[in-house]
Amino acid sequence: MSTDTSARTAGIVVVGSLNADLTIYCDRLPKPGETVHGNGFAVNPGGKSANQAVAASKLGAQVSLVGAVGDDANGSMLLESTADAGVDVTRVRRSDAATGVAVISVDASGENSIIISAGANGTLTPADVRAAADTINDAAVVCLCLEVAIDTVIAAAQAGNDAGATVVLNLSPYAEVPEILAELSDVLLVNAHEASLFLGGEADVPDADAEAEAWEPVRSQFADRGLQRVLVTLGAHGSVVLDSFARGTQDQITRIAPTRVSAVDTTGAGDAFTGAVAARLAAGESLADAASFASVAAALAATKKGTQAAYPTLAQVEQLRG
Ligand code: ADP
Repeated sequence: MSTDTSARTAGIVVVGSLNADLTIYCDRLPKPGETVHGNGFAVNPGGKSANQAVAASKLGAQVSLVGAVGDDANGSMLLESTADAGVDVTRVRRSDAATGVAVISVDASGENSIIISAGANGTLTPADVRAAADTINDAAVVCLCLEVAIDTVIAAAQAGNDAGATVVLNLSPYAEVPEILAELSDVLLVNAHEASLFLGGEADVPDADAEAEAWEPVRSQFADRGLQRVLVTLGAHGSVVLDSFARGTQDQITRIAPTRVSAVDTTGAGDAFTGAVAARLAAGESLADAASFASVAAALAATKKGTQAAYPTLAQVEQLRG
């Protein structure tokens, strides 16, 4: 049954990927050339953009997804799961290519490794973005990742920019991006590894438990690259907000403490974080407040197996925040 969307206001358009997640749970991840025994297998809806859309929708935002799936059973599963979470999927096109797939291994500590095959996601073009222009024009936030072609991501960022929306770019899976994409992005979302790759060793990314001041060189390097507002996620160590638009130097760096949970599966925790940030920005919250909220949402997502089904509702996040 679809979630009631009548009370929703702020609009988010997510442009990007939908994948079927084929997950094997095992005690430890295999080394190259090694075979290990798994102890469970599941097929679940996934894909960074679908996950982010579902996360934001479950947290009360009005969300539209622009993407492509194959004309196959995985495609139907993905359309159903995102629609059931309240996401508008009228802009998800059926393609001749097979639905995208992610092959995921998760070990006993919740750590994962992932290979994706783009399939239908690879057929998403700037023409799909143009076809969704009316939806994007009404958006408060446009949310993007790098699981679809870079031209498509740039077209969506440009459309979001033209519409006056806040463009949130999740630089994942990491790829070098043209300068124009950084210019068009209002908020960059990266994990520590992606941050260090993006800065190309120009600034050392501090240890995950370092104090706020240690992040000053990183903030300054991002600002030099035109990225004034950056969120760096640090797994179980929480996250850090780098906001070069903030007035006082103290407000430019905010360390968000982790929400302590017993993690079972961190797959998609980053997507839960991104979707939650998008939802709170669309609702008019500050970047630091949005990150603090997202930290709780993402921690809750890590306490259950899978991605979308593990994402919390607004009520669950509010209950944990007290
Ligand atoms: P990614 O999955 O993209 O690498 P991270 O691992 O940094 O991203 O996780 C994203 C966010 O999810 C973190 O900033 C944190 O808020 C939350 N998170 C992830 N793992 C845990 C954990 N074990 N305990 C609590 N929160 C977590």
